[in-house]
Amino acid sequence: MKPSLSEHPQPDDAAAKQAVRPVICYPIDALPPADLTAYRAARDGWTRLDTVIVPPRDAASFSVPAGCFFRIVSIEGPQVGDLNLWNAHDIGERFYSGKTRALHGTHLSTGDRLWSNLPYLRPMATITEDTLDWYGFDEWGGSVHDVIGTRCDPNTNKLLSGGDYHHCCHSNLTRALADAQGLPLAAAEAHVHDVLNVFMCTGFTRDTGQYFMKASPVRPGDFLEFFAEIDLIGALSACPGGDCSSAHSSDAAACHPLRIDIYQPISPPRGWQSPQRNSYAGGHGR
Ligand SMILES: [Zn+2]
Repeated sequence: MKPSLSEHPQPDDAAAKQAVRPVICYPIDALPPADLTAYRAARDGWTRLDTVIVPPRDAASFSVPAGCFFRIVSIEGPQVGDLNLWNAHDIGERFYSGKTRALHGTHLSTGDRLWSNLPYLRPMATITEDTLDWYGFDEWGGSVHDVIGTRCDPNTNKLLSGGDYHHCCHSNLTRALADAQGLPLAAAEAHVHDVLNVFMCTGFTRDTGQYFMKASPVRPGDFLEFFAEIDLIGALSACPGGDCSSAHSSDAAACHPLRIDIYQPISPPRGWQSPQRNSYAGGHGR
């Protein structure tokens, strides 16, 4: 955090330096935009392959074949979810929250891709509908579906409170992946990664730049819909923070289940091909 009083004096040209206009780090104009018309047309006549209920303060895993859709649905009350995604054939390829943030911004919505880690760096999923897109950014700079948080975890909780809490999203995701893959907990934990915070309303305070949360605007019936670009395994935790209006990493908040619906279209979206892994050959200058 920046000190409220700097230890070092401003240079004479401080105002001019601060007035320099920012430039976008990663312009994505060269990337083909998601063809939402084609994706949405593929929903006509789709059939539901599976439904998974995520219990409160717990996680569940699910599988989505490439070319299918999945929806994360609010059902009984306001609840945020922490989402992890892996390549179903190689869990070493997983969702890369940081690069997704760099490419699409702090909070995701319709048309954004969920990119995989290096060296794969390809779209794992595309957001095809977001019933909370009306929220935009509020007066504090808050918005929903962030890729700026990490996930609540027992180690940070231990650090800050001294206590043990075993149903943080990190632990929930670890158990879900361990059960799905038949892995020991420690092996599964190594594959759990920074999440997409589904339905969570977050931002950074303007004065101190600290990560904040506020009550999610999600209501039963709201959903976030994805198209699976590759064969996926997912895990979703119903965060112990509930709507994240006050606390997490404890049993204090009211929590609700989440539902995941998986749909198979009659045929894939027109013109769609599953993306190949990134074409950089890996020379790294040698
Ligand atoms: Zn959580």
